[in-house]
This record gives sequence, structure tokens and C-alpha cells, in this order.
Amino acid sequence: MSQDNQFKEVNESYTLPEAVREAQRCLHCKVPACKKGCPISNDIPDWIAELAKGNFGNAMHIINNRSNLPAVCGRVCGHERQCEGNCVLARKGEHINIGKLERFVADFDSDAGLTHEAIPEKSRGRVAVIGSGPAGLTIAGDLARKGFAVEIFEMESEPGGVLMYGIPEYRLPKEVVRREIKKIENLGVMFHLNTTVGEQLTVDDLFKRGFDAIFMGTGTGVPKRLNISGNNHPAVRQAIRYLRRVSLYESGLIDRSEVIVGNGDRVFVIGCGNTAIDAARTAIRMGSSEVTVVYHRTVDQMKALRSEYEDAVNEGVKFLWNTSITNIEALDGEHLRSVTVETEGEPPRIVPADHVVMAVGSAPAARIVSTTTGIEVDDKGYVLTRDNPYGMSTRKGVFAGGDVSNRPATVVHAMRDAKQVAEGIERYVDAIKLLAAIDH
Ligand code: SF4
Repeated sequence: MSQDNQFKEVNESYTLPEAVREAQRCLHCKVPACKKGCPISNDIPDWIAELAKGNFGNAMHIINNRSNLPAVCGRVCGHERQCEGNCVLARKGEHINIGKLERFVADFDSDAGLTHEAIPEKSRGRVAVIGSGPAGLTIAGDLARKGFAVEIFEMESEPGGVLMYGIPEYRLPKEVVRREIKKIENLGVMFHLNTTVGEQLTVDDLFKRGFDAIFMGTGTGVPKRLNISGNNHPAVRQAIRYLRRVSLYESGLIDRSEVIVGNGDRVFVIGCGNTAIDAARTAIRMGSSEVTVVYHRTVDQMKALRSEYEDAVNEGVKFLWNTSITNIEALDGEHLRSVTVETEGEPPRIVPADHVVMAVGSAPAARIVSTTTGIEVDDKGYVLTRDNPYGMSTRKGVFAGGDVSNRPATVVHAMRDAKQVAEGIERYVDAIKLLAAIDH
């Protein structure tokens, strides 16, 4: 892989004629299985029909009714398990390439500046959103369109959360994320960056500032650690932190020397979800000489998408199934000496290694709930929420959604949950406003 193009997006876009031709293959099924397979019930045949006629603006409008992040979903959704996997043409192996079409519509719209949504009057109440990942952005977009004044509080210097700092550039270019966020900003959403709720200010401070409701979309930022002897060595990295560092390096915010995995290293990645694959493919791009994913189950049990796995194999990542790392032997300094690898039914073997990257899941940080009162969490730190109004925590007016309450899931599943929470917040704020009006 050329070093110049190491983080270039790997999947090509459709040209305009290709997109229209692909859209024209759609059968516009009366009972569309594709839509059923979409977690946010995107009106897929409707916008594909508009695209097939060349009505790109109409296609964008229909998509916007269900999604605030189509250029993102078009790239990183698990289409093979959702819309495309359900498409009736999939039985013949000829499913419509829905993700690529959605991406085309969103990119075409951004490039041409086609749709200009009117900014609705902000008269229904004020909502603070903590975190600007997929859940926070979805809430913000949905509520801004419904006439709420929304302000986002984000700890990083750029909004986007996992979209900006967790998913590598070659799968989701940062420029794409920035353009999607710009569209949400254009709805009148205000962003407060470099602002950590739970450190610089608390949930109570936000209520004092006059917000009617607060949404926690803070995700799961604390990586889990396997209990392996030697795992405290600095050469054992956490995948989400490694990916974040590489993102910062690509954005020119930190030096190459601060991203220690790469440059001829032999790297072992533990885990086999999408984050593990992202870390492995990123390690290859950073110049590692050998990258091996170690997973204690089989290929059919991995959480990663098959397409991501296949791309990783094609790029040279090796996989060891039914295998665990049981010991990490360290050298002084930033490198390891070796790891002990145990594959089911085989004797343990000691293999030279420079780094281990752990990608075995993550849990919510306690920063917000520990600096206020009344927000209960379960024994793993996930915020407890109720169904009525949907998404409200045990503290009145504080809502939670996405990974921080539902455990880590995909971008689109966080969005689905956030859409429901947006409805819960809408109902709650309308109700308290009504009660306040009656009291006066
Ligand atoms: Fe078109 Fe496939 Fe959806 Fe049918 S299931 S409407 S063919 S995308």
C-alpha cells in the first residue's frame, strides 16, 4: 500500500450515470423488504425511485425525513445484514447497492448545495445535548427540525464523537463527517466544543442555565481490559485510543512519534468486532510489518462485518481463530518481546511481538453521573432509562440514548434509539411547558 494514499477512502463512489442505472434496477416492491431491514425504516424504494428519475433533491428530502447522517450511513452501515441483505434481489446475489446509492445522493447534495432546509423557529423549549456522536447528532437534528433550541456540549475540539475519532479515514473521511455536521449546524444547532460536562460544568449547571431537558449521548469511552499477565506494559494499547491517536495524527494535531504502533512492528489485535478490524487495518496503514487478529471463537461468531473482514484479509491482516493470548512478555521501553499464543487443541507457543492492541469492548465513563445526583446506572455503568417518556433516566428531565444506555451497538442502532428518545424529549418538554402555562 502506497504511503501517500494509506488513508484514502477505499470504496469508490458511483458516477451520476452509474447511480441512475443502479437505481433503475430497483423493483419498487410493494412490501419493501429493504426498508424492513433498515433499523431507522428509511423509505428506501421511494428515494431510489426519485433517484432513478434524476430527481436528486427529492431523493435527499425523503432520506432526510429518517436520517440526519446519510453520507455516514451510506458508508459505514452494516448493509449486508440490513437493507441490502434483505433486498429481494439478494436471493439471486444481485441486491441493489443501497448504501452506495445513499452515499451518492448525500454527497451529490452536499457538492451541489441542492437542499436548503428552512430553519424552524425555536419556540418549543431548550435542550442540551452532551456528546456529538451519532446519537447526539440525531437528537439535535430531529429536535431542531421540530422547533427546539438545541445546544451541543462536546469535550473534543471537533464534533462527531466516534464518527470523527473512532472510524478510520479510509472508511469514513473526516470531510464527510464535517459536511454532515455542517448541515445539522445549519438547522440552528449551537456547538460548545472543548467543553466536558462532568468537569467544566455539571448537569445541575445546565439546568441552572435554563435548559428544559438534557440528553446524554456520551457513548462508551472507557475501554475494557482482559486480565492477561503483562497487559500493563505501555506497548499494550487500547484500540479506541489507538484509533483516536491516528485520527489526531491525520488531522495534523499530533506528531507521528505520538502514534507508537506501526513502522515495521509485529502487532497482535485481540477481539474481532469492527473496532478490532479497524485497528488492524489502521496498523497496516501505519506501516506495521505483520498484523494478526486473535479471536477466541470462530470466523462465523465474529461480530465484525464479513465485508470488513474480507477487506482486512486482502490488505494482509492475518487471523487466528479459537485462539487466545495468555501472556505478554515485555522489554523495557515501548516494545514487547513476545506473546504466548494458545490455539484450541494445540500446545502454547511463544511468538515475537512488538505491540498488542486490545479491542474487547468498552463501557460508559462515570464523569456525568458522579458529579450530580439522581441518575441511576446498572452494575456496569449503563444509564437506566424508562419507556415513558422514552429514554428518560431516573432523574426528571435527563434523558440518555445510544451506547451509554443500550450498550455498544452500530452507528445506525444508536441513531434508531436516539430518534425514539427525541420523541420522548419532545413529549416531556411539551408537557412541562403546558403545566407551567396552566399554573400561571
Ligand atoms: Fe428495491 Fe430491493 Fe427494496 Fe425491492 S427490496 S424495493 S428491489 S431495494
